[in-house]
Amino acid sequence: MTTTNTADVDATLQQIAEVTAAGCDIIRVAVPSADDANALPAITKKSPIPVIADIHFQPRYVFAAIDAGCAAVRVNPGNIKRFDDRVGEIAAAAAEAGVPIRIGVNAGSLDSRLLIKYGKATPEALVESALWEASLFEDYGFTDIKIAVKHHDPLTVVAANRLLAEQCDYPLHLGVTEAGPAFQGAIKSAVAFGILLSEGIGDTLRVSLSAPPVEQVKAGCHILQSLGLRPRRLEIVSCPGCGRLQVDIHRLATQVEAAFEGFPHPLRIAVMGCVVNGPGEAREADLGVSCGNGKGQIFRHGQVIATVPEARIVGALLDEALNLAEGTETA
Ligand code: SF4
Repeated sequence: MTTTNTADVDATLQQIAEVTAAGCDIIRVAVPSADDANALPAITKKSPIPVIADIHFQPRYVFAAIDAGCAAVRVNPGNIKRFDDRVGEIAAAAAEAGVPIRIGVNAGSLDSRLLIKYGKATPEALVESALWEASLFEDYGFTDIKIAVKHHDPLTVVAANRLLAEQCDYPLHLGVTEAGPAFQGAIKSAVAFGILLSEGIGDTLRVSLSAPPVEQVKAGCHILQSLGLRPRRLEIVSCPGCGRLQVDIHRLATQVEAAFEGFPHPLRIAVMGCVVNGPGEAREADLGVSCGNGKGQIFRHGQVIATVPEARIVGALLDEALNLAEGTETA
């Protein structure tokens, strides 16, 4: 999801371009004001990926988003006043335009009726809210619906989505909402998504971190790649280090990661701190380095091709990666 002021079309398109480059396939933009709604046509026209409008509080922005060519509209009926009165009109407009509606239920904005009934945002409460909201559209014959039920607790997300998958056939959007700072949030999301996706539950996902959108997209891509659901771009296999370490492996792995940021060819690169496991892992990778005594043995497709001083390791890996990408042999 973008973090720009949506009404700032240039800034929003710039951020969409950045997340697209990082691997994002669908982008959601917040539409809290009339200025934001008015910006949607320009954004949808130039965005390289489908745009979903995120509407809280104002049903009239739903119509604006549909007219603007948004690929879908996310509504949270718990936050849209007088929503029930407008469901028929929204369903008719969405059906005519072929625009799906995403029903998004968040623990933080759960219908007060359900909070009283369940005491808190339990999986059952989230699911009941979502299915009730879906039923409002179903009453008008509209079923082009995707559902998201989100909570900050990954196990609640897992339980809620399992229940939803049992009780409906709608596509499900996965999210651990307000997952926290980058490290904690990425792990919470990976745990929930890993369980659900390995069970075949989930059609789209968003990693919600207190971090820039590009970082959220990268985390989502890593999760999908780790599950074999998306081809890997670049994989760095690096050791954690131990008492045998003969190089600053944390610094070296970070330098390799930075040097290969955006590298367009899918490679596995092993960065290993000593000769115990180093040669084995380095041989298995496309490129690898096994460190020792201030030097790095560089491997390419299982063969040692050079031994370089520590300061040259990153450059040597990058040179070889470029050679591999061009299909050339080392001189
Ligand atoms: Fe320790 Fe060597 Fe294994 Fe790295 S490769 S964790 S330094 S034994």
